[in-house]
Amino acid sequence: QVKRAYNFNAGPSALPLEVLEKAQQEFIDFRGTGMSVMELSHRSSDYEAVHNQAKDSLKELLSIPEDYEILFLQGGASLQFSMIPMNFLKPEQKAGYILTGSWSEKAFKEAKLFGNPYEAASTKEGNYSRIPQLDELNYNADDAYLHLTSNNTIFGTEWKEFPSVDVPLIGDMSSDILSKPVDVSKFSLIYAGAQKNLGPSGVTVVIVRKDFIEKANKNIPTMLKYSTHADNNSLYNTPPTFGIYMLGEVLNWAKSIGGITEVAKRNEEKAKLLYDVIDESNGFYTGHAEKDSRSFMNVTFRVKGEELEKKFLAEAGQEGFVGVKGHRSVGGCRASIYNAVPYEACKAFSEFMKQFQKVNG
Ligand code: PMP
Repeated sequence: QVKRAYNFNAGPSALPLEVLEKAQQEFIDFRGTGMSVMELSHRSSDYEAVHNQAKDSLKELLSIPEDYEILFLQGGASLQFSMIPMNFLKPEQKAGYILTGSWSEKAFKEAKLFGNPYEAASTKEGNYSRIPQLDELNYNADDAYLHLTSNNTIFGTEWKEFPSVDVPLIGDMSSDILSKPVDVSKFSLIYAGAQKNLGPSGVTVVIVRKDFIEKANKNIPTMLKYSTHADNNSLYNTPPTFGIYMLGEVLNWAKSIGGITEVAKRNEEKAKLLYDVIDESNGFYTGHAEKDSRSFMNVTFRVKGEELEKKFLAEAGQEGFVGVKGHRSVGGCRASIYNAVPYEACKAFSEFMKQFQKVNG
C-alpha cells in the first residue's frame, strides 16, 4: 500500500487513486496495442476511441445539450483569456467582465487588446470576498458577451446561481467544473483548464454553442479559431493525447461513484467539515469569503496573528498536509479540496485545525 499525501494543492492537484492505478496498469501495453497511450498515433482508431469516449463522458456527466461542441485545446485557461476576445469581440464592440478575482482581472486585461471590455461588476473593494448580487450587474443587451469566473481559486469564492442574461454568457469554470451540476444552456461558452477537477495539466476543455462559433471573427490565425478545432473534432493538429486519456479516466471514475449528483454531495460534505471548524473557532480562524459566497473547492482562511499563522503552516506541513499556504498574492491559508481529495483528508485536516487551536488558542 503506497502512502498517499494529504494533497490540498490548488492545481495541478489530487487525482483519484483508482485512475492512477488504472493508468499504471495500462501504461506499457495499452489495451493490447503493445504500446502506451503516449505512443499511439493520434490518427489511430485506438486513440480515437479514447478521445471520443472522453467527450461522450463529459457530455453525459454535465448533461451537455446537442447544440454544443466539446473541444480539447492547449495553452491552458490563460490562452482562452485571449482566444475569447480574439474570436468574439470586434474593435468597436463592448463586452462586460464581472471582476471577482485575479483570474477575471487577467481575462479582462486580454480583452482590452481586441475591443472595448468594461467592468460589468466588481467586488475588488472588499478584497474579492464575495460574488456580486445579480442586481449589481450592469451590462448591455447588444454587448458581444458577458464574462464571469465561476469559482475564484485564489480568494475562495464561488457563484451559487448564475445570472440568466440576454447576452452570450461566457464562464471560466477552471476550478469548479464537474464539482456540481451546471445548467450549460445558460452559457454560450464554458472553459476550464483540466488540472483541478478533470485531469492533468496540458488539456483545456471548451464547451461552446455551435451557433456561437459561427459568429466568430474570421481574420485570425487558424490555430486560434474555435471553428478549426470544432470542424476537426479537436484533431486538427496533434492533441495532448495522454492528458485526454487521463481526463477520460477521471470522468469514468466520476461516473462510477454515482455521477455529478454524488460528486456534488461529497464536495458539500467535505467543505462543511472545514467551514464548521472556522465558524466554531470563536475568531481563531477567519474565513476570507463571505458565507453566502463560499467556495466548495478552495477554502481560504486566516489564523489569528501572523506568528501563529506561520506556526500553523509549518505544523500543517510537518503533519503531511501539502499545499495549505494561500496564494502568494493574498497570503493566509487555503485548502483546495477538489473532487479527488478524499473525505478522510478533509476530516484529518479539520481535526488538525481543532487540535492546533486547542494547543495555541
Ligand atoms: N482561471 C482560473 C479560475 C484558474 O484557477 C486558473 C489557474 N489556477 C486559470 C484560469 C489559469 O489556468 P492555466 O494555468 O491553465 O492557464
